[in-house]
Amino acid sequence: MKCIILSVVQYKEKDAIVQAISENKSFSFLARGILDPKSKNAMINNPLTVVELELSEREDFKYSILKSASILLSPLQLMDKLEKLAAIQLIDELILKCLDEEEKAQIFTAVLKVLHDLKEGVNYLDVILFFTALVLKLSGYGFEVDHCLFCKSKKDIVGFSFDDGGFVCQNCDEGRFTNEFSKEELLFLRLLFKARQSEDLTHHNLIEISKIKMLRRLVQFIKDNLGVSLKSAQLILE
Ligand SMILES: [Zn+2]
Repeated sequence: MKCIILSVVQYKEKDAIVQAISENKSFSFLARGILDPKSKNAMINNPLTVVELELSEREDFKYSILKSASILLSPLQLMDKLEKLAAIQLIDELILKCLDEEEKAQIFTAVLKVLHDLKEGVNYLDVILFFTALVLKLSGYGFEVDHCLFCKSKKDIVGFSFDDGGFVCQNCDEGRFTNEFSKEELLFLRLLFKARQSEDLTHHNLIEISKIKMLRRLVQFIKDNLGVSLKSAQLILE
């Protein structure tokens, strides 16, 4: 079974309970001895490692037990750049803190994609923004980016209201949101919130400073609405 490791928590001595996702499933299992660096499975003790797992069930024990694991993609292979490490940490933190079990079960394909994108050298901020928007959508925070959220007009979109939930046109704006985002940034917000899990995010040319601004705004939105403070985002935003 192909899986992605989310977290590893010590259970007894060098044994650990590992949280993972596979296609349509979120689950935990017991991995004996993996906290010992000499263990043949020690490599899975890294969040967002992609592994082929073999588990065995035991009737008298609530967790499945790890029989064997072979690494398909390790985040250690992506550590050639510090920014990729920051991206990995933030993506893992978003999954663990913002999604419930049912939502985690739906995110496998998207996580695989962001890992491959990072490996292929796609801009780390694009990867993070795409994933953050996806997590928001999965948590029930969709935004109206097809027309003005108040009057449904498709013309003269001048702003984006995080509080009200999407695009605002010139008529409805009344000077409130006009200045926060540029035209390019509004188009990028549309791309972000329309994106599918398999979206190619490289077809835009938003400047880096705008991407940082978007990320700061999304991180603030998550703090205000989900009550989640994303520690690893600070590495990128500072
Ligand atoms: Zn309007």
